[in-house]
Amino acid sequence: MSIEKFSVEKVLSVQRWTNTLFSFTMTRPAHFKFTAGQFARIGLKVGDELVVRAYSIVSSPFDETLEFFSIVVPDGAFTSNLQHLQVGDELYLEKIPYGFLTLTRYQLPLPQDLWLLATGTGLAPFVSMLQDFDTWSKYQHIYLVYSVRTASELAYVERIQEIAQTFGEGHTGFKFVPIVTRDPQAVLHDRLPILIENGALEQAVGCQLNPATSHVMLCGNPQMVEDTKEALKARGLTMNRRGEGNIAVENYW
Ligand code: NAP
Repeated sequence: MSIEKFSVEKVLSVQRWTNTLFSFTMTRPAHFKFTAGQFARIGLKVGDELVVRAYSIVSSPFDETLEFFSIVVPDGAFTSNLQHLQVGDELYLEKIPYGFLTLTRYQLPLPQDLWLLATGTGLAPFVSMLQDFDTWSKYQHIYLVYSVRTASELAYVERIQEIAQTFGEGHTGFKFVPIVTRDPQAVLHDRLPILIENGALEQAVGCQLNPATSHVMLCGNPQMVEDTKEALKARGLTMNRRGEGNIAVENYW
């Protein structure tokens, strides 16, 4: 890994949600431009080695700092070190962003209803997209669906409400739908593919998935992405290629 590809940045804040979930912000160099939905490659010095991982960006392209949302992977070379992050620590940031999970990839169908389906830390790119007035002006309906195991893992809920008030002021078509899969008392507790197959997700938001109008983005657990993609295809939706089609995906790890 060539160190010249990276700039050295400083950690500005760390927020811990649970024992295994945390967010952090760091300085953003002027050269680092990105589109909402893209990811950055962040490096951490572990001994003499630079260990690098991809992280979707939570903050908006207009923010002066960069924010990321992370899970602690048990025995993971990167996150087990990253979890001890403190304000003032140095991190390496690759100078260019990556990824194609962006709203600009959609040409047809024209924007109408946007379904943002996340598990766990896969929420990150969607928080970034919602901090852009363009997203709110383009779509009549926006559904943010966030699946976690337990309610304590529902990070960012207050921020999402604040973002909807600030960026989506006057917009009447936004719904935030939490799914808590390991709590049978939760309003929605089945996995996403089941909720699509049995119509419960559409019922929860009050709108039908429609190949002629829906843009559906998936981010998170790779098996969720795979299984949900199949459930959507069974409903007639297609993968977005060269601008056309409904479904766009990002595996998170
Ligand atoms: P997770 O297992 O991804 O679960 C998060 C949500 O996704 C839960 O609601 C879960 O439902 C659901 N889910 C899991 N598989 C699904 C599927 N096939 N279809 C639909 N929904 C599905 O939990 P996590 O806490 O976010 O991550 C768990 C582990 O993943 C971590 O401990 C870590 O090892 C790894 N991970 C690694 C990275 C990385 O960067 N290397 C990043 C994130 C996570 P259920 O409760 O029914 O399982």
